Amino acid sequence: MNTRPLMFFGTTNLDLCFNVERLPTPGESLMGGLTRYPGGKGANQAVAAARLGLKPHFYTRLGDDDAGHWLLQSLMQAGVRADAIQISAGEVSGSALVMVGDDGSNMIVIDPGTNLNVTPEMIERAAEFIARDAIVVAEMGMPISALNRLFEMKADKGFELIFKPAPVRPGLSPAAWASVDFVTPNQTEAFELTGIEVLDFHTAAGAALKLLDLGPAAALITLGAQGAYYADKKQSFSLRAFPVKVVDTTAAGDAFNGAFAASLAESLPLREAVRRALAVAALCVTRRGAQSSMPSREAVGEFLQ
Ligand code: ADP
Repeated sequence: MNTRPLMFFGTTNLDLCFNVERLPTPGESLMGGLTRYPGGKGANQAVAAARLGLKPHFYTRLGDDDAGHWLLQSLMQAGVRADAIQISAGEVSGSALVMVGDDGSNMIVIDPGTNLNVTPEMIERAAEFIARDAIVVAEMGMPISALNRLFEMKADKGFELIFKPAPVRPGLSPAAWASVDFVTPNQTEAFELTGIEVLDFHTAAGAALKLLDLGPAAALITLGAQGAYYADKKQSFSLRAFPVKVVDTTAAGDAFNGAFAASLAESLPLREAVRRALAVAALCVTRRGAQSSMPSREAVGEFLQ
């Protein structure tokens, strides 16, 4: 397989996942079953690409604690290149409390831990792993100063940039926005960025136009069970999600984004790349967990036959 180099930047978390019959209401106590999963938006995306057979680099910051070492090991076992990853003494790894109801819906609370200790200087050092002609993928869980530095480096390094703006936070510079090639929000993130409620493909079109006004060359909005909407200055299209039996929607957007990046790295035509991302995300929601629910290249190939 002849692919372009791929590098992800973002967060890694220990997911403490409780399966509950239904999500609790305020003040309510429920019984549930606990499983520990490796998670974090950056890590999930890198693993999604690795499961498709790519060998992505990943930059993240982990604490020198049990969780940090376990998370690092699981990334490497999944096929993610860990040379750029930092284990930091005296710091606590990020964690997330995830509750998943029987209908597949979820609620998540995140303690970012050491994910928030990433500095622009660390990003500069990690950027040595960005090869020529690379695709770089970032999300918004790292400090904004670090993201601004990463995006600034695009001018020198000449990479293609995919940006999942989650969780949405203010402070990204106009120049950073203008350096984005593909911004890939879900409906909530698109609303937070544009003020337009994305209910369907029609309203997604309006939000995509506003996203392009922020500076990115293209907007690719995911709409959960509906599918995805793409727009750049020359073309737009929507593709429907694959109908599947939903078990757990955790990391669906990460599966989509990691697979979209992997597909561009394999030089698939744009529509094909979006279609494969929809397939990977559909398979992801049929399984429990975050990284553990990313499908293999073989499973995706069979699904798309
Ligand atoms: P996020 O996980 O970031 O909230 P979405 O909910 O928009 O993102 O889901 C991302 C993608 O995952 C969708 O575009 C779709 O391809 C897939 N997906 C999510 N929910 C379903 C579902 N119920 N059935 C099929 N595919 C789904």
